[in-house]
This record gives sequence, C-alpha cells and structure tokens, in this order.
Amino acid sequence: MHADQSSQPPSLSIVIRIDSTYPADVTMLQWPILIIGAGTWGASTALHLARRGYTNVTVLDAYPQPSAISAGNDVNKIVSFTDPPADDDPEFVNKTFFAALTKGFQHDPVFKPHFHNVGNIISAFSAGGLKHIGRRDRRGADIVELDSPEDFRSAFPSGILSGPLPGWKGYWRKNGAGWVHARNALVSAITEAQRLGVTFIGGESEGKVVRLLFSSNNNGAQDIIGAETADGKQHLASKVILAAGANADQFLDFKKQLRPTAWTLAHIRMSPEEAKAYRNLPVLFNADQGFFIEPDEENHELKICDEHPGYCNWVYASDGERRSVPFARHQIPLESAERIRGLLRATMPQLAERPFSFARICWCADTVDRNFLIDYHPDYPSLLLAVGASGRGFAHIPSIGGFIVDRLEGRMDERIATAVRWRPEQAVDRDWDDTQNRFGGPYAVMDFQKVEGWTDVEDS
Ligand SMILES: Cc1cc2nc3c(=O)[nH]c(=O)nc-3n(C[C@H](O)[C@H](O)[C@H](O)COP(=O)(O)OP(=O)(O)OC[C@H]3O[C@@H](n4cnc5c(N)ncnc54)[C@H](O)[C@@H]3O)c2cc1C
Repeated sequence: MHADQSSQPPSLSIVIRIDSTYPADVTMLQWPILIIGAGTWGASTALHLARRGYTNVTVLDAYPQPSAISAGNDVNKIVSFTDPPADDDPEFVNKTFFAALTKGFQHDPVFKPHFHNVGNIISAFSAGGLKHIGRRDRRGADIVELDSPEDFRSAFPSGILSGPLPGWKGYWRKNGAGWVHARNALVSAITEAQRLGVTFIGGESEGKVVRLLFSSNNNGAQDIIGAETADGKQHLASKVILAAGANADQFLDFKKQLRPTAWTLAHIRMSPEEAKAYRNLPVLFNADQGFFIEPDEENHELKICDEHPGYCNWVYASDGERRSVPFARHQIPLESAERIRGLLRATMPQLAERPFSFARICWCADTVDRNFLIDYHPDYPSLLLAVGASGRGFAHIPSIGGFIVDRLEGRMDERIATAVRWRPEQAVDRDWDDTQNRFGGPYAVMDFQKVEGWTDVEDS
C-alpha cells in the first residue's frame, strides 16, 4: 500500500492504493467497524452494535468521553413520547423514530433513570410561532390549553412564574414529556457499550480524526478503508460510520446537504434551597423566545436557551461559495446573553440579573428538510453516514443507533430509508439563510463573523 495524495477526494482525505495481489477480502473482514464521533449518535450506534453481537467496534473521538464539544454533553434536553404509528399513518417515519425513543426511555435500564417525566409547555407569541406550534391540533386528554399569563402561572408552583409573559399562548402536556439528563444518558450509553466490549479512543492526539483513508483497486473502484488520527495512526476498518455531528461536513463533500448551525445556552447557579423550590418544574419552551429546564440536582444549575434560527460561521471560498465552519467556544455572543435575560424578565424576573455560571455555543448540522441523513455514501460502499441530526437528535439517543445499524445491515424499513437517504438533489439551490421553521431572535439565521462581543463567563 502507498499513499497517493495527488488524487485525493475533496476535503480531509487520502487515497491508499491497494495492489491486486493484496488479500483485501480476507484481511479487511478482520478490521473493526470504526465509528468516528463518540457523541450522541456515535455512542448510541456503538451500544446497538454491541447489543447485536458485534465484537470488533472502535470509536474515535477528538475529546475524552464525554466529549466537551458533543451537542449531547449538556445538562438536559427536551424529550416527548409518541405511540407507535399505524402502518398507513402519513407521519409514519417521524412517529416510528419517536415511538422507538419512547420505548427506550420507558424500558431500557441504560436510559430510563435519566428521563424526568415532568411534562412540558410549548408556547409562542408571534403569529408564525403560534401557527408553528399548532396548538389547536394538540388537544388531547392530557393536554391543557394555556391562553393567559394566569394559565401559565397555574402550571408552576406559586411565585416562580412572576413575569408578565406578554402575549404567551400554548399548551401544557403533563405526561410523557419532560427532559433527560443528557450528559448522564450519554455517559451511560458509552459505559454500557464499553462493558459490552466496544473500544473508545478519545483525545486530541489519539482520537481526533484528521482524515479519512480511501482505497482504490486496479479497476479504479474506490472505497473507504479507515481513518487517520492526529498522532499519525491509521485505523483500518471494514466499515466506517461517520457520526461526527456538525464536524462531519469537514471530511467529505456533502453537496450542501449539511449546514453546521450553532445555538446558545447559559446556566445560572442556584442555592440548594432555591433548587429545591424549582424542582420538578415542567419544561417551559417558547418558540419565539427560548426555554428553560429545572436546575439539575448535582450542581443546582438552571439551563436557559434563547430561541432563534441559529448562528453560522460563514467562510467564503475563492469562487464565492460559502460554508459554515464550526468552532468550539465556551462563551456566547452578548446579544444572545441579552436575549436570555429577556426570556427571564418575561418569565422569572427574580433571576434575570443573576450572573451566568456557564455559557457555551453548541453545534448541530441541519439538512434541507431537517430529516436525518443515515445512508451509505454513493461512492464509497463501506462508508455509512449517520449525520444531519438537525437540532433535534438528542432525544433519540436510546434508539437512533438501532436505526443506524439497521441501515448498516441493509434492513432499514423502506419508508424510513427513503426519508433519511443521501439526497443532494434537495440541496442544489440551497438557501443557506433559510430559517427552517425556527423563530425568535432576529427571525433570521445569524453570522458569528458579525458578532460584536462575547460574554466573559468564568467556567465553573
Ligand atoms: C443548544 C442545543 C439544544 C438542543 N436541545 C435539544 C433538545 O432539547 N432535544 C433534542 O432532541 N435535541 C436537542 N439538540 C440537538 C441534539 O443535541 C443534537 O441533534 C445531537 O446531540 C447531535 O448528535 P451527534 O452525535 O450528531 O453530534 P454530537 O453529539 O455533537 O457528536 C459529534 C461527536 O463528534 C466528535 N468529533 C468532532 N470532530 C471529530 C474529529 N475530527 N475526530 C473525532 N471525533 C470528532 C465530537 O467530539 C463529538 O463527540 C440541541 C442542540 C443544541 C445545540
């Protein structure tokens, strides 16, 4: 084998030529399945592979576990449950994904302890936001409509929602909805996968993938053959599953199917007594302004996110084409901090001027239609893509790996496979500034290059 950099495919990749005499078929079968990324989807995939009896699985990540930049390394995420759909349900695909996560959080010992069934309130105040949350369609036995600030207050213990909640309307789902302790669920998945024999390699030298390795045989057919880490080690693999979240876009030409987009969050540290008073609150989400979730039990930190269509980090190529390039930062733009305080003034003004104890930008990758992208790469038969979580991929941690392994094994339901296929045709004339049914902030996708100032939060 020898490296041939001159004919390398786009991006971070290298071609390794395989001689016709090379016994690829025998040797390659013994190589592990390699997962790139030990975040939400990589960890779930590793767990499901191990549970299906795969004994040779290695996961590489640029950070020790749990990765400091994984979108799933967070104190909490919103989750809601769905019953399995009827076979002819027009929303069959989405509901099948949700029914699977429901089963996971209800029954799987790896995930069940991390779900908090506190209910959630979905609300908005703009015409677009209200239309989007579709409150009229959501009537049901356990759904309560909230039409006035008083209605909202009645969902919370007295004295907590003391703000004016101007124009807020929504619905309160009391059961089968709430939040999951995201980091603990992620660690739980990794720990169980390790117990079942999966190898995790994390760190900026030995775990960070710097390029994909491709082979080409004498007929010119190409395939992926592994990945190279920053320490120069080449990890050869029988299959490669790319689950690097927003960073996946850097390894291949995704033909505009992925738009790395970031959101913003901050924490407020509360006293143990306060945390007790704020315990078991329903999740309060407003499509126009943001959301918060009760403080966690370990550190008494209340997480707050401002809602908006997201930030991109636009970098322009010489041909004028732009792409959003993720970067890590444990701070948020000052404008975002101000929006977070605005949300608190509207809901819990008693907390609005408290210092932040933590802040972070957090990246995900949006597809054009916000359906996931779980498919083999059309040019590299051993490369499976597990990307495009589109800002809604954490809730699926118990089950997404099962769907990914179904695709790996060629037995994914056809309707699901069609929805999550490689689909560059959707992205040909991609409108990079599409808000993709998101509201809040300036009601437009923002650009980190234009941000004027950042917070200076000391990471506690
Ligand atoms: C602020 C915010 C709030 C959210 N809230 C919710 C919510 O309430 N509910 C919900 O369901 N979803 C939510 N999401 C979305 C959800 O977090 C993501 O969709 C999901 O976590 C994505 O999982 P992933 O595995 O694709 O990416 P990640 O979890 O980000 O994993 C990618 C992994 O790849 C690794 N990696 C990157 N580059 C390399 C490299 N070169 N080599 C090796 N490894 C590498 C990273 O370290 C990381 O561990 C939210 C997202 C954000 C940003």
